[in-house]
Amino acid sequence: MRNGLIVKPQKTKLSEYTDSTELQSLNNYHLILNELLKEKDLANQKERQKSAFFADMVHEIRTPINIIKSFAQFLQSPDLSQKDTLEYAQIINQCSDNLSHLINDLLDFSKIEAGQIQIVEEKRNLKDLFNELFEQFNISCSQYKSDDVQLKSNLELSPEQSIVTTDFTRLRQILVNLISNALKFTSKGHVSFGCRLSGSSKLLFYVEDTGIGINPEMKNLIFERYKQVNDAFSNTKCCGTGLGLPITKSLVELLQGTIWVESVPNVGSSFYFTIPFK
Ligand code: ADP
Repeated sequence: MRNGLIVKPQKTKLSEYTDSTELQSLNNYHLILNELLKEKDLANQKERQKSAFFADMVHEIRTPINIIKSFAQFLQSPDLSQKDTLEYAQIINQCSDNLSHLINDLLDFSKIEAGQIQIVEEKRNLKDLFNELFEQFNISCSQYKSDDVQLKSNLELSPEQSIVTTDFTRLRQILVNLISNALKFTSKGHVSFGCRLSGSSKLLFYVEDTGIGINPEMKNLIFERYKQVNDAFSNTKCCGTGLGLPITKSLVELLQGTIWVESVPNVGSSFYFTIPFK
């Protein structure tokens, strides 16, 4: 290496290297070359993953648009019953919701990639956030078979400890992602979300469900960016884009925390994350 550049050895045959210093520098040259080749392979692999991921996303966007277009055309038919009209309007509504959810996720995703998410801290009561989340999901539970799923909220902090300083918008987004996933993958039992102190300097949040659980080999993959959405999750009954958890993980890290999951297939999953206790 000279001035940050790798200098290619001049001699062409190994037998020409008689001096031990020369041999050592030849060895170093090959080690560095190998490292560079490995990095290049990895970069190529990431590029391929990115292309596949964006192709998936285009498909994810096109599908609801095509459904919306078709059903909007059906609605123009003059002899449509009231029942069909209502059903088609509901399908259009649902697809529009999915589409706007996906676009919001993609916007967040690209902002995270570009390092453009600003953390804005404020001092607020966690109790208010927990009450809001409970109200929001206890009603919208019905979207996902709520009758057999009980929603529970456990704020295990004293009134003084509940007043914390963090980015509440991002904290809310993290909890919304985890709670909606828990409800999506749970048809019976409960979904509980809560928070307690972990030591004196961290808050530990959790979202626990009694749903379908996650296979051990999937546990690390679910937080990865640019995974192949449809292949990776084809074993689950609900389809999705696979953007939620990578976004959630990045947001937790922006709040200086860590996230992990414990899960047993057919028993349930518990997602945990920490943030500093301020
Ligand atoms: P999406 O749900 O939109 O596919 P996510 O990134 O939020 O994207 O989740 C990725 C995958 O992780 C899901 O498709 C599912 O297979 C799995 N998963 C996430 N949360 C849960 C959960 N609570 N229970 C079971 N599987 C889950």
